[in-house]
Amino acid sequence: MARVGNSIIKGLEVGEIITLLNKAYADEWLAYYQYFIEGKVIKGIMKDAAIAELTQHAADELRHANMVADRILQLGGTPLLHPKEWLEQTNCGYDAPKDFDVVSILEDAIKGEQCAIRTYSDIVELTRNKDIVTYDLVSQILADEVEHEEDLQALHDDITEFVEDIKKNLQ
Ligand code: FE
Ligand code: FE
Ligand code: MG
Repeated sequence: MARVGNSIIKGLEVGEIITLLNKAYADEWLAYYQYFIEGKVIKGIMKDAAIAELTQHAADELRHANMVADRILQLGGTPLLHPKEWLEQTNCGYDAPKDFDVVSILEDAIKGEQCAIRTYSDIVELTRNKDIVTYDLVSQILADEVEHEEDLQALHDDITEFVEDIKKNLQ
């Protein structure tokens, strides 16, 4: 544990930061797996574009899990050791794909990103001017989650518009 490094944390319990980071860590693993499996089972129109986005996001979520785990260790904590704890500690839950259609999968993924944005915004607010290292880390992750939501929403809108155009042309 970084002794002087952690002495610069002001007005926050280190244990509280570790707890919040472990909950975010659970979210990242579940998001990683959700993207991974969505990219495998997805079906329908323009699915290749969706698979490219889902695969890229899966890699980003795994990178986030790595970043969060390293910060938990720096703070003297232990990242969750058992996958069963992911479901117990998660903020955003796990949305198993039910309908494998592209649009429905993108909608599930957008909901997940919106939850991630809310979760990281809360940690950003809490750590601002108090734990600058965690603040910087969660700010970087938050920027990625905002980009994820935007990418998925743009793709979702392109696909639904394309489908509407086809329907119009068939009338
Ligand atoms: Fe993430
Ligand atoms: Fe994300
Ligand atoms: Mg993307």
